[in-house]
Amino acid sequence: MSRSYYIAGNWKMHKTRAEAAELAGALVTALKDGKHKYLIAPSFTLIETVAPIVKGTNVLLGAQNCAPEEQGAHTGEVSVLQLKDLGVHTIILGHSERRHNYKEDDALINKKVKLALHHGFEVILCIGELLEEREAGKAEAVCETQTIKGLEGVSAEDLSRVVIAYEPVWAIGTGKTATPEDADAIHAYVRQVVGKLYGEMAAQKMIIQYGGSVKPDNAAQLMAKENIDGALVGGAALKTDTFIPIAKFA
Ligand code: PEP
Repeated sequence: MSRSYYIAGNWKMHKTRAEAAELAGALVTALKDGKHKYLIAPSFTLIETVAPIVKGTNVLLGAQNCAPEEQGAHTGEVSVLQLKDLGVHTIILGHSERRHNYKEDDALINKKVKLALHHGFEVILCIGELLEEREAGKAEAVCETQTIKGLEGVSAEDLSRVVIAYEPVWAIGTGKTATPEDADAIHAYVRQVVGKLYGEMAAQKMIIQYGGSVKPDNAAQLMAKENIDGALVGGAALKTDTFIPIAKFA
């Protein structure tokens, strides 16, 4: 089954409104003839600025997180209702920086996944092992657990709005990239896990992005692998010079 490529940029906690508008505008222009699916995920404070720039284009609007509740007394959190109001299409959940720096566990991530899907969003569910887990031979087991627990209670119908991003934590922002072979092996394994949960057809349809120091010079080799269906890009998503060549990899 042929799956389309999906290239997403996670801007993390970077940029002012003026900088965000400039980058979003340049990307919209550069990618208008792009062949793949594209997304940019700015910080919450930038979403209202970026939304009208990407509206009606082939660049989707993402958010980097959401609260596990719809609304209420949750100081400092941002609700799915507020994100919907801004025109957000996709929410990135379970990013390793959320898991490890802000102690989000699988149960919390699963609650957010289900809430976001319930409100009609697409979800990019990030999974990935730490360096010590890889060295202990536990990469597959960690990714399996994060996939199973992240998707617990997600219906087969809602699964069609889930994308998985395999991001080995040791490769994020470090300049170290998993070899295309190592990444593909985990992607294939995760696809099998999805197959056991939802059946072979759903597994074959599942878009599994790779993330971890994706750059213009390694994007094509990664994407050439059978099970790698795109990229979730951090650092290289912050500049047109680096994001556009990744988005238009040949
Ligand atoms: C990320 O944080 O999702 C990521 C992949 O970052 P980087 O590309 O900078 O490694």
